[in-house]
Amino acid sequence: MEVKFRLAARHNAQARTAVQIGPVTVGREDLVIMAGPCAVEDYDRTLAAALALKEYGAHIFRGGAFKPRTSPYSFQGLGKEGLEILAAVRDATGLPVVTEVLDTRDVELVCRYADVIQIGSRNMHNYALLREVGRARKPVLLKRGLAATLEEWLLAAEYVLAEGNDRVILCERGIRTFETHTRNTLDVGAIAAARNLSHLPVIADPSHAAGRRDLVAPLALAAVAAGADGVMVEVHPCPGEALCDGDQSLDPAAFARLVPLLRQVALARNGLAAAAG
Ligand code: PEP
Ligand code: MN
Repeated sequence: MEVKFRLAARHNAQARTAVQIGPVTVGREDLVIMAGPCAVEDYDRTLAAALALKEYGAHIFRGGAFKPRTSPYSFQGLGKEGLEILAAVRDATGLPVVTEVLDTRDVELVCRYADVIQIGSRNMHNYALLREVGRARKPVLLKRGLAATLEEWLLAAEYVLAEGNDRVILCERGIRTFETHTRNTLDVGAIAAARNLSHLPVIADPSHAAGRRDLVAPLALAAVAAGADGVMVEVHPCPGEALCDGDQSLDPAAFARLVPLLRQVALARNGLAAAAG
């Protein structure tokens, strides 16, 4: 790979980077499962969701407090109150939490509450924000821009790494194509390619790729087969009532059915990789 990926590139036989998030390691053989609602709505629902997801096998809880909505009139998230709820849920369940930051002015605030800070797809090109989270002392989940090339995505990671933050997790969440059947098109090839080109862990978000719940499981399984170190799935206790992204949210029962399938695929994949040396 070219020298422009000074820090993100994987050089010959370089060991893969693992990112530690409390008790959870992302980037080793064990598949890491992140799950939760698109947005934090209130404490009781968020806690109920987190308790169910933990029981069914999630390692990290997700939930948006600052939501990047296409329309300014859509629910924008609870902001600081949402962060407080997430932190309380983390304390009650022991699950580390990941949540998005939209604005450089909020990075310090979000870092106070979150275990992982997420840079959303729409902000992958926001270089001021990338630099700011590069100076933060928290792992960063960097989503691929919805129209970003693999190279642009890795260069975005480079911005974070160049500021001294070496805990970056890449997340493929689908790119915009001519296809309208799905919200975005999950670029499964990019998952494998990013893992070849970079030493950073790579996870997949099949929910924002599909935009519809019936395709979340098959895409998640495909992502794991392609080598994803983890998946991030939207789950809502009652998807029909979700304030955000209900159409693509699994209910807890569907999540419970998906987890053992993901583990089986990860086992098969790891076995094949070990056999291949
Ligand atoms: C999200 O994870 O809530 C989200 C908004 O995702 P993306 O940035 O991939 O659209
Ligand atoms: Mn969402």
